[in-house]
Amino acid sequence: MEWTRSETLGLASVQCTTCHGLGLRLVKRDKEAPCNCVLRSIFRICFRRFRQCVEKEKHLSHCTFSFTGGRDRSMSWGRKQEEYIADFLLMVRRLLSDDEYRIFKFHYLLGADWRLCCMKLKLDRGDFFHYVYKLEARLGKAFREVEPYGLFPLDEYFGGTTREVVAFDAPRKGPFPLRPPIAA
Ligand SMILES: [Zn+2]
Repeated sequence: MEWTRSETLGLASVQCTTCHGLGLRLVKRDKEAPCNCVLRSIFRICFRRFRQCVEKEKHLSHCTFSFTGGRDRSMSWGRKQEEYIADFLLMVRRLLSDDEYRIFKFHYLLGADWRLCCMKLKLDRGDFFHYVYKLEARLGKAFREVEPYGLFPLDEYFGGTTREVVAFDAPRKGPFPLRPPIAA
């Protein structure tokens, strides 16, 4: 997939010494890739939403009837919050090695700070943060690039629209129908 500067600019860190706040770095002569600061930023946005979904009172969760995209313009019922939690955890488990997942579990899921993680996992501070930065960047990249439905951008995930739909299929005006058509 293509990464554009207009997309990375808002996600990049202005203090980043690699991309200087532009969000893209040159990897080959004519090829640019997203900077790690952008990928980590995507991870943090997704993780924040994951926590909101987990912490939300379950009686506030509700079914939504959303557009799933594709050529047949299909729609389906779903519980987006629960789907997001499941998708997030599934991707984390698939992408990380066993050692990385242990760090993820202690630090992100159980909330242990770096001192506790280092003590429990027998790591020094430098190694711990090296692992954390690496896994955040890897997960952020996957959350954005996984197809057909990435976890990021969040409005596409929760809004039920896809890039393909927006580009080719979406009606120009008006909201998507909220109810399925009634069979004759
Ligand atoms: Zn950067």
